[in-house]
Amino acid sequence: MARQDYLIALGSNMRHALYGSPRALIAAALKALDNATCQVVSVSRVIETPPLGPSRRRYANAAAIVRTYREPDAMLRKLQAIEHRFGRRRTGKAWSARTLDLDIVLWSGGAWAHDDGESSLVIPHPFFRERAFVLGPAATIAGRWRDPLSGLTVRHLSARLTKPLPAPR
Ligand code: ADP
Ligand code: MG
Repeated sequence: MARQDYLIALGSNMRHALYGSPRALIAAALKALDNATCQVVSVSRVIETPPLGPSRRRYANAAAIVRTYREPDAMLRKLQAIEHRFGRRRTGKAWSARTLDLDIVLWSGGAWAHDDGESSLVIPHPFFRERAFVLGPAATIAGRWRDPLSGLTVRHLSARLTKPLPAPR
């Protein structure tokens, strides 16, 4: 497989016994992501956003670009290994509090989908176009990247979310 760039979304909304705040946990996760076979080439600032859904904790979110020869399934396994190392436990509840969430938003290889019945991977991430906490940080480091499905850039998708709705007539 050729060298690829991946746009990764990082999120955390729980204090971690060892690493402390969600912000510190994201910094530690970025260090874990960066190694000989996977280089973190760009990182956004960490933003803090109010929680979505029933969880009352604040979220910390960031985006990173990583460069690697890994194919998407191997990349996801690496992300899941890091989630696990940082204490994430899958509870089955989509909005449960979590120490760390690492998602693949886009990659340089275009659209990709793989489902072997046990695990699934869809790139572009199915919900990223509606998530300001993903698009905001992503637009600062990957604004010119294009969503292969809509053809719009990350900057455009982000602006579209934050633009006020037209006034009713
Ligand atoms: P969330 O939607 O909040 O990120 P999870 O992290 O628990 O929820 O993800 C659930 C599943 O989503 C994972 O087991 C993974 O197989 C699948 N998945 C599908 N596409 C992606 C992607 N682009 N990035 C990360 N996980 C993905
Ligand atoms: Mg995830």
